[in-house]
Amino acid sequence: MKKKAELLRCKKNHIVGEVRWNGQRVPQVMVYRHAICEGESAPHNPLGPVTGQMNIPCSICGETRFWGISIPAAIYLVENMPGKMVFDFWQELLRRAKVEKPNVEVSDEPVS
Ligand SMILES: [Zn+2]
Repeated sequence: MKKKAELLRCKKNHIVGEVRWNGQRVPQVMVYRHAICEGESAPHNPLGPVTGQMNIPCSICGETRFWGISIPAAIYLVENMPGKMVFDFWQELLRRAKVEKPNVEVSDEPVS
């Protein structure tokens, strides 16, 4: 059974897009060029799919709805980079890891 699309709404409850899952179970958003109100049928020509993140503007009221990236989407984007870009990406992550210490204290003491 196909999973039902989750609707994205602006603060005034207009529907600005819908979340779908691609064949690799990565959430993506189909952005509506023109927002719709409850009960109206979804447009046939959405923008997208957007896999990363986006401030989606509502064409009715001008509010925006933030669509944030998920861990599966981030992994999907990296895995689909061209080979050289993947190499440069990991190099950059390693460079940053050396410079910026994580803001977490690690202790060998058992948690009480
Ligand atoms: Zn709106």
